[in-house]
Amino acid sequence: MAKENELYKRLVYQRKEGFDDISESEKSKIFAYCEEYRRFINKAKTEREFCVDAYKLLEENGFVELSRKESLKSGDKVYAVNRGKGIIAAVIGNKPVTEGINIVGSHIDSPRLDLKPNPLYEDNGLGYFKTHYYGGIKKYQWTTIPLSLRGVIVKPDGAQIKISIGENEGDPIFCITDLLPHLAQEQMQRKLSEGVKGEALNVLIGSIKDSDKDVKERIKFNILKLLNEKYDICEEDLTSAELELVPAFEAKDMGLDRSMIAAYGQDDRVCSYGGLRAILDVKHPEKTAVLILTDKEEVGSMGNTGMKSAVFETVIAKIIEKTENKYNELMLKETFSNSVCLSADVCGAFDPIYPEVNEKNNTAYLNCGIGIMKYTGSRGKGGASDASAELVAKIRNIFNKNEVFWQMAELGKVDCGGGGTIAQYVANLNIDVLDCGVPVLSMHSPYEVCGKLDIYMAYKGYHAFFIDSID
Ligand code: MN
Ligand code: MN
Repeated sequence: MAKENELYKRLVYQRKEGFDDISESEKSKIFAYCEEYRRFINKAKTEREFCVDAYKLLEENGFVELSRKESLKSGDKVYAVNRGKGIIAAVIGNKPVTEGINIVGSHIDSPRLDLKPNPLYEDNGLGYFKTHYYGGIKKYQWTTIPLSLRGVIVKPDGAQIKISIGENEGDPIFCITDLLPHLAQEQMQRKLSEGVKGEALNVLIGSIKDSDKDVKERIKFNILKLLNEKYDICEEDLTSAELELVPAFEAKDMGLDRSMIAAYGQDDRVCSYGGLRAILDVKHPEKTAVLILTDKEEVGSMGNTGMKSAVFETVIAKIIEKTENKYNELMLKETFSNSVCLSADVCGAFDPIYPEVNEKNNTAYLNCGIGIMKYTGSRGKGGASDASAELVAKIRNIFNKNEVFWQMAELGKVDCGGGGTIAQYVANLNIDVLDCGVPVLSMHSPYEVCGKLDIYMAYKGYHAFFIDSID
């Protein structure tokens, strides 16, 4: 009854009730978009792979490498690749860049297991690779699942050998074994965080001995012979390599109603894909639209492929120089101070199996829209970039005008834990920034779950933000 009351509707905030509030035509758009997304992330499982596939899409859609353009004008579409692990793409706006740019920034690295520099060893008749986990994982989740090996090996002459084993039909996969329950009494008494220890994440890769009984470590030797045959490498070549073990699961529709997608690495490729698709659909924006796909978020945005590096500033400086025909540092600083960024990163979705970690009024629900996080951080907003009320109002307005479903989210109850995104590093450049992304169940696990409505709303929201001129 009360809901039909006009005054009630005007005064009381109603969260959108997911698919209840979606028309049939919008629903088919959601499902069609998610099928394209599913196919994309099914292949692009590492930052390097995402980078290659993103760059191909950009090229197909008329984007040109920034270094190939002498000058830039309104409507021009450019991109710059950073060391094969990150991309910045831009569509030049009608207004001067120094009046501010609209940025969507996301990351394309995900938690995984990296091979150590000296990975190969044998032990009691079995061959292994040693790993060092990357990002925040629950280690026990990474045992007894199929893993594929991806990445590059670089030879001393600079030749790059691409590795991808475990994804194609007929490929072998790899696996980390775990104790049988019958003999796990001691292990089962340990804390969950220590049930499987970091140095136990050794991946089983072989068991056949080389036929030469005079050599030492015959299993290891046999594996090296196989690697040499296929890739022309020796053991030392593994020291200059970036090899990642990722779940060999396929990205799949999930649920009898197919309303969700289960896949590895949706944090944060779900937002990255949304941002990418959004900028492909931007033509002649008022303000220059910029997409950042960055690396190393999961380990603190460090290094020259992370958001803390000077790469973003350098690319924007070049864009200023090429649009204005002149450049000085003040122009760059002015650009940033007039700019707005959506930090497009996922948030935790409310999980009814574990309701105790969330506060129900301030958490994101699956398939109820893109989650806006005014701040992240932990222990009293520690380490948070807290977006201004003014900015939240502007974004809320854009989303409402464009029928983008959104909801406010916090990462868990107060003092329950916490986390961060690239938002704080963007904010340090004097840019207004707001975290805004897709809610995820089982985040950082080998098989993360997102809702299709939310996946689509991220794209719709980022696109609306790009084309809407906010002052
Ligand atoms: Mn993330
Ligand atoms: Mn993450």
